[in-house]
Order: sequence, then structure tokens, then C-alpha cells
Amino acid sequence: MEFQLTDEQKQLREEVRKFADEEIRPVATEYDVEEEYPHEVMNKAAEMGLLAPHVPVEYGGIGYSSLENAILTEELFAADPGIGLCISSAGFGAEALMEFGTEEQKERVLPEVTAGDAVMGSAISEPQAGSDVTSVATRAEKDGDEWVINGSKMWITNGTVADYFVVVCETDPDIDDRYSGYSQILVEGDRDGLTRDKITGKLGIRASDTAELRFDDVRVPEENLIGQRGMGFLQLMQFFDETRTAVAAQGVGIARGAAERALEYAEEREQFGRSISDFQAIKHKLAEMHTNTEAARWLTYRSAWAVDNEAGDLTALASMAKEFASRTAVEVANEAVQVHGGAGFVNDHDVERLYRDAKITQIYEGTTEIQKNIVARELLGDGM
Ligand SMILES: Cc1cc2nc3c(=O)[nH]c(=O)nc-3n(C[C@H](O)[C@H](O)[C@H](O)COP(=O)(O)OP(=O)(O)OC[C@H]3O[C@@H](n4cnc5c(N)ncnc54)[C@H](O)[C@@H]3O)c2cc1C
Repeated sequence: MEFQLTDEQKQLREEVRKFADEEIRPVATEYDVEEEYPHEVMNKAAEMGLLAPHVPVEYGGIGYSSLENAILTEELFAADPGIGLCISSAGFGAEALMEFGTEEQKERVLPEVTAGDAVMGSAISEPQAGSDVTSVATRAEKDGDEWVINGSKMWITNGTVADYFVVVCETDPDIDDRYSGYSQILVEGDRDGLTRDKITGKLGIRASDTAELRFDDVRVPEENLIGQRGMGFLQLMQFFDETRTAVAAQGVGIARGAAERALEYAEEREQFGRSISDFQAIKHKLAEMHTNTEAARWLTYRSAWAVDNEAGDLTALASMAKEFASRTAVEVANEAVQVHGGAGFVNDHDVERLYRDAKITQIYEGTTEIQKNIVARELLGDGM
């Protein structure tokens, strides 16, 4: 058993850390306050090869493994989760194209995304279909050689900035099987009949663009179907282990960012004539924050390893990692604010933002409750 990163992985970590310190941290508060998508930072991230780096080399990516993706994600989120999500979501939905797309779809979309010339979005959730993905009601009907799409999607990351969406639609409602009858369809962002409304006032990750999409007779050519008709939900399920591991890495990043900032502050701040880090109550907080972050990281690495090696216990591990790392992010960020006292309550200090940002990791890509359901199902072998 090897508990060391390779030299290449260490180098990746150092390079992304440097990028995050120089290009993300100095502007993070500004984008958070303005709720603005960081186009300039995205251009620099493209130059660094940070956009959709899991895409294979032949389509312009780097072909990073899940483990390398976890290392990179931790660094981005330790600096700032809002901008970190913009960078790591640029290729949302790319997995569907990589795994099930036609050669034409891959060659058209993926190189644009990795070059920073296009952004993708993955449109699954709807106003009435959140945790229960099988209640998706957006309809795609065949009319000649086109699909005609009607319905709405909710909470879509990159909703107003994306050039391409992978949209989960119901195409075959007559199929009498809960998981069949859905298809994934590629929809260009500039199609007639597609309306996108930005959602503002989010608790956290405010640099990230989130929107509601409305489809009113949106027409796309039949060639935009991704993979097999009626199998969209089953196709989608194959990526959850990977995407949940990535959210676990986000949680590790937020926890580490908060724990490091708390340590720094505790050593600087003096009360009662001594550094607050001299008080045992604060020492214990710091010890617990760093211990839990380390535990979350290794569970996440273990899950990433399982993704890369297609291990049998992968689904349980991915949900364990996602649940534990997101809970750790929320708890550590909470303690980091506590260590800062009043200073942690205002946005002069990053912990205020990390505290707000941490919460999303317990909600998207399947809530905490859904992750526990999955772990229990894997243990007990029964349904949801
Ligand atoms: C900022 C943001 C970005 C997002 N980005 C995207 C995106 O890019 N693409 C996309 O498709 N979606 C996206 N989402 C949607 C996200 O995945 C959903 O919000 C999430 O899956 C939960 O669905 P819901 O909000 O409808 O909550 P609900 O499903 O209504 O859940 C409400 C509560 O009930 C609980 N609950 C529901 N079912 C069960 C059950 N069976 N057992 C126990 N408890 C249960 C939940 O855990 C939760 O606590 C995003 C959401 C946010 C907030």
C-alpha cells in the first residue's frame, strides 16, 4: 500500500496551488460580492489546462484520472469554492459525450471546452424533480428529423453562460420501467425557444452561475441524441460515482482552506496577553479540524482510486466520501469562524465565505440524506 503521491501528482498540486494563490484568492471576495462569473480567471485557467482536464488528449484535454482530478479540485476549492466551481464545472456533462457521444459530437464540443472557448452545463434537476431524478418531466418528442423539447430545468450550474447543455428528457413515457424512457440530448445554448434566468441571492458559491432554463418548442437535430434513446437515466447513473467523488474533493478543499486560515489567525491573534493558540480550547479545535480534513482526504482518495480501478465497492465509497467530506467542510468552516471570533463574521476574512460556501456540498450531486440511503442500500441490499 502506497500513501505517497507520485512526483507528477505532487507537481500538479504545487502548480494548481500557485495558480489558485495568485489568480483566485486575490479576486475571490469581489466576485462573491458581485455574484459575477469570473470570465478573466476562466481564460487564465484555460491557459493552464484546468478546464475539463479529464477529457482525453485526442479531444484537447489531459486525460486526468479521478485521483488527479481530486488533487486539483482540492486546491481550487481551498482558495475559493465559487471560482473553483466555475473552473471545475466548465465541462459538466462532458462525461456523457466521452462515454456515449458520437465522434462528431466529441470533435465538435470537447476541444472547444478544454480550450476555454465554450462552457457546458448538465441539466437534470427540475422544479419538481430533485432527489428523485426519475420524475423528470421535460419532454422531447420526435418531429421528422428533429427533437422538440418542452419543459423546465432548475438550479443549472453555468445556466446563463453555457454554450452546450446535456439535457435529460423524457422521450418514451410509455415504457413501463422507472429507469427507462429518458434520453440525454445535446442542446446548444443559443437555440430558439430556450430562456435562461439567472438565480441570484445564493447563500454561497456566488461567483458560480446558476439558472433556471425554460424550453418552449426548442428544436435540435436528431443527431443531438447522446447514446441510446430511452437509456439516458441509466447512462447518467454511471457517472455519479465519479462526480460524487469530485464533490468530496470540493469538501476536502473547503475544509483545508478553513483549517489553514484558522491556524494562521490563531497564531496571530492575542487576548489576555497571549496568543489565542495558547488556549487549550483553541488548540483542540485546530487539532480536530486538521484531523477531520485529513480523514476526509483519504476517504476521498480511496473513492477516487476505486473510480480509477473500477473497484466493486465503488458506489458505497463514493457516497461515503461525499457525505463525510461535505459534513467535514461544514463543521470545519463553522469552527474556523469560531476561531476568528467577530472577525470571522465579516468578509474581510475568507472564512466567512467558506462557511457559506461549504453548505452546497451537502446539497448538490445528491443530498446528504440520499448519500446515506445509498450507503445503507449497498450494505443491506434493499431499495431506496
Ligand atoms: C447551487 C446549486 C447548483 C446546482 N447545480 C445543478 C446542476 O448543474 N444540474 C442539475 O441538474 N442540478 C443542479 N442542482 C440541483 C441539485 O442537484 C438539487 O438541488 C439536489 O439534488 C436536491 O434536490 P431538491 O433541491 O429538489 O431537493 P428535494 O429533493 O426536494 O429534497 C428536499 C429535502 O428532502 C430530502 N429527501 C428527498 N428525498 C429523500 C429520500 N428519499 N430520503 C430521505 N430524504 C429525502 C432531501 O435530502 C432534502 O433534505 C444544483 C443545486 C444548487 C442549489
